[in-house]
Amino acid sequence: MQLSTPISQFSRVGKTTAKHLERVGVRIAKDILYYFPFRYEDFRNIVPIVNLHEGSAVTVTGKLELIANRRSFRTRRTITEALISDATGSIRVLWFNQPFLTESLRPGDELLLSGIVKADMLGPQLVSPVYEKKTRGEPTHTARIVPMYPLTGGVTQKQMRFLIKQALPMAEALSEWLPESLRRGNDLISLSRALTMVHFPSDMAEAETATKRLKFDELFTLQLQAALARRELSLRRAPKITFHEAEIKSFVKSLPFTLTKFQKVAAWEILKDIEKTLPMNRLLSGDVGSGKTVVAAMALYTAVLNDYQAVLMAPTEVLAEQHYASLTILLHGRARVGLLTRSSQRLSSGTLPSRTKVAQKRELIKIIKSGEIDIIVGTQALLEDAVNFRRLALVIVDEQHRFGVAQRSAIKTKGQGAHFLSMTATPIPRSLALLLYGDLDVSQIRELPPGRKPIITRLVDPANRGKAYQFIREQTQRGRQVFVVCPLIEDAHPESVEKKSVLSEYTKLSQDVFPDLRVRFLHGKLKTVEKEATLRDFKNRQADILVATSVIEVGIDIPNASIMMIEGAERFGLAQLHQFRGRVGRSSHQSYCLLFTEDASAAAEDRLKYFEHHNDGFALAEKDLELRGPGEVYGTEQSGLMQLRLATLADRDLIKDARAAAEKIALEIQKYPAVARHVGTEKKVLHLE
Ligand code: ADP
Ligand code: MG
Repeated sequence: MQLSTPISQFSRVGKTTAKHLERVGVRIAKDILYYFPFRYEDFRNIVPIVNLHEGSAVTVTGKLELIANRRSFRTRRTITEALISDATGSIRVLWFNQPFLTESLRPGDELLLSGIVKADMLGPQLVSPVYEKKTRGEPTHTARIVPMYPLTGGVTQKQMRFLIKQALPMAEALSEWLPESLRRGNDLISLSRALTMVHFPSDMAEAETATKRLKFDELFTLQLQAALARRELSLRRAPKITFHEAEIKSFVKSLPFTLTKFQKVAAWEILKDIEKTLPMNRLLSGDVGSGKTVVAAMALYTAVLNDYQAVLMAPTEVLAEQHYASLTILLHGRARVGLLTRSSQRLSSGTLPSRTKVAQKRELIKIIKSGEIDIIVGTQALLEDAVNFRRLALVIVDEQHRFGVAQRSAIKTKGQGAHFLSMTATPIPRSLALLLYGDLDVSQIRELPPGRKPIITRLVDPANRGKAYQFIREQTQRGRQVFVVCPLIEDAHPESVEKKSVLSEYTKLSQDVFPDLRVRFLHGKLKTVEKEATLRDFKNRQADILVATSVIEVGIDIPNASIMMIEGAERFGLAQLHQFRGRVGRSSHQSYCLLFTEDASAAAEDRLKYFEHHNDGFALAEKDLELRGPGEVYGTEQSGLMQLRLATLADRDLIKDARAAAEKIALEIQKYPAVARHVGTEKKVLHLE
């Protein structure tokens, strides 16, 4: 076996298991070494049966005397009952719904059993303990500090541990990449030891030492990549785009509103950046509806005033069309704006003469190149080889994290030599931004324009579901539209009926609850054309209710929608719920966000209550980070976060140490080929990628 051996070649891994593992990023032996436990159970305490006390976590070692299955009539479960004895006494053991145990365990077997001691009228017993047969080697699942892994599909803890044990000898083959001096300076153990100990530590101190080393790797890698990118960027040049005070003042005066304080600061920061020949690399983050577009427009307009071209790119056609429409109005008479997507080409300053789409596209591409258009709005269609610009000086990308990796690197190539701004509606607290995107500057718009009606948010008691439907009906009768968000696309299997799926809700709403209304559905597995068509129809009021997964999370603007109903709300994080809520409340109509939950734990209910009463996206993001950690909050596809498996924002000292080390090494990276190789092969996550 090698580090690159596919997981499907591991002993006892079938097709299904391989598929489940692949879903969590485990493909080869090396991946499984990096699949870390999220906690440990301490079952080191081996206790003679006579000394067992209710409530303690223990390991019992003894002989299996009896084992048999019976059916419980009341709960309809199979109960496996066993009797275990050691030199001091015997204890009853119960397992549920594992009838095969009577096949794999036989009277006379010497067993290790770990679990919590419970007691009933008949005395102490072990309920559903983890067990393994005693062998000469070290135990894996019992009588030690036992690693607990995040599970996927039907894969069990025992299987995970079994797989990891197979891969463990490979840890030795991983070459150390941190320089000796750095390891000594930061008190870090070797990589191969850390990877062994993190899975099977002999005490909690070992687990901590191992975790520290692995967290350092994550934090150091991220920050070194950022430091190197910053250094590289500082060697590049971009056009100087000078500030035209009179025109910008007149533009601001032409707006039907006054800019908020945050908009002014953000615009000022951006306009200052692009006046330099050092390329701007900035993130503009602000809640949905906070008014990022007008800030972007000021930068685009300034580029035009300097006789440069500028690009505004969005991840979907609907978003690109929205931006095109806004800019056409905002910059009317000030700039020539064009739209280029796969399915539409338009021009603010006239019409394209040809009648066929193909010919129109060719014409548009031609006049982009000739410089007859100043601002080009579009989707990834802009990345095609045929599209070339004249004097491109500024590239703005909306919701960049929704582009694929290949597209991001194409953006970088196309935008070579231009200033770069990316916009996101995901509120990213500064501390996290600094860590994830240390190579870029951040502007935040932290308040909504005045005069918005706050969205009324309610956690609805299941008993009032009927009333909620009645309310939805009233709203649709007034011409409003409704979103229904579900956590799943389809019911995964019969046991998960309580988790609402788009398809089952769609059927229920369209057939039983609102047969007279126009209900549509939307999810990520539909073809792009289908998705775009459904969204466009909904926007054009061709439907009353749209049942969707989290695909509607970002960006789309449907001002006429006034209700956001969220099923299985406990399954979403605060930041994500806030994104959903931002889909409504985009007009003068009073809007509502109704949360439903089927089985909220007390903690989940507290979280939802908190959400009911808080409206600031940044505050919610901070709270969410505190409760769940960055990977959970922003999803692992958010660049950078997939590298943070162990480290969190709470690791303040380690972040600081790693940053200091990264800055030092970046200055003389050529002296550290192993480090350079490591940060090069690690998935590139930099902002510009
Ligand atoms: P987002 O940050 O979500 O992209 P938009 O730029 O689409 O937000 O702005 C949302 C709406 O708010 C738009 O209709 C825009 O015209 C309006 N808007 C922007 N800035 C202000 C402001 N300062 N005062 C009032 N309305 C504003
Ligand atoms: Mg926007």
